[in-house]
Amino acid sequence: MFDVIIAANGNSVRMGFDKLAEKIGENTVLARTVNAFRDIDGIERIIIVSDDAPDIEGVLTVKGGKTRELSVLEGLKATKAEYVLIHDGARPFVSRELIKKIMQSALICGSAVPCLKITDSLRGISDGYVSSLPDRNSFVTVQTPQGFETKKLKKAFACAEKEGLLERFTDESEIYSRYVAPCKLVEGEQSNRKLTTQADFFGLNARIGTGFDIHRYVEGKPLRLCGIEIDYPYGLLAHSDGDAPLHAVTDALLTAAGERDIGVFFPDDDPRYENADSRIFLRKAAEILKEKNLSVNSLNVTIIAQSPKLSPYIEKMRQNIAALLNIPSEKIALSATTTEKLGLIGENKALAALAAVVLV
Ligand code: MG
Repeated sequence: MFDVIIAANGNSVRMGFDKLAEKIGENTVLARTVNAFRDIDGIERIIIVSDDAPDIEGVLTVKGGKTRELSVLEGLKATKAEYVLIHDGARPFVSRELIKKIMQSALICGSAVPCLKITDSLRGISDGYVSSLPDRNSFVTVQTPQGFETKKLKKAFACAEKEGLLERFTDESEIYSRYVAPCKLVEGEQSNRKLTTQADFFGLNARIGTGFDIHRYVEGKPLRLCGIEIDYPYGLLAHSDGDAPLHAVTDALLTAAGERDIGVFFPDDDPRYENADSRIFLRKAAEILKEKNLSVNSLNVTIIAQSPKLSPYIEKMRQNIAALLNIPSEKIALSATTTEKLGLIGENKALAALAAVVLV
């Protein structure tokens, strides 16, 4: 019933790299886009139009043209099914639900185009000034997949080609509407966005890490938290200096980067780390992030202690972590809390710390 044409021949001038070959999780953008159409009842073949896409199993690849519509034309030549869906290779988040909705509507109405209402205000412009105030309710933006009766879309393409206008159009609904009939609109999806610039990829491969640590208070040891000396008669019992929040942060960073925890890197029976300054642990984690080209997008640290009162040190500790990781302090949130005198911490026998990090 349906062939699918995936337009994947766009040069990535705006991105500066091949956006379709970028990975989201385990798959490339293009493979993820293709997978959205697999195993849907009624879809017969998937055709990728591209000059340089790698072979993807179960998919026919045909060479493209100079512009998007010349490429889609090449895809259309390879279609055999009665209906066709045209989709952007750079829209990997399309849901199967939307695909099915478009197929259904194309079967009933001959065409189907997903669209979104405009939520921002619209302004006509001229020389940097507002020149008109259009009503946004009269406009929508359109997405893909767009569904059509194949022979009618082929006819529209033939007309556009004959008039020498094919290269001018930006999508198939424009061509179909001009030469065949107005397209049927179907509600699209906000999440079905097109990856256009490098910024669109930001956060798509975010990694989360968490860390926890607790140490017992002892007399006769300086208290060091987040690398800052705290004026207090007790310190934290540990093989190292006992800086629990730095240990928690180090674990969060290491695990988010897919590494083992702090104890594996710095065993607590290794004499080299006796009374060690915990800042070396954090620096090691920062080095690993750099190696893996990962950076901290946000870091949240919570220190849990009945005493001492930590509010005078919060900003200093935050700045110190930022300096150790060489990141802006705005990316770090640090808070302190008590346990309302409950449990070991509430009895002031220990201090604990939690950390959560998002790496991008
Ligand atoms: Mg520890």
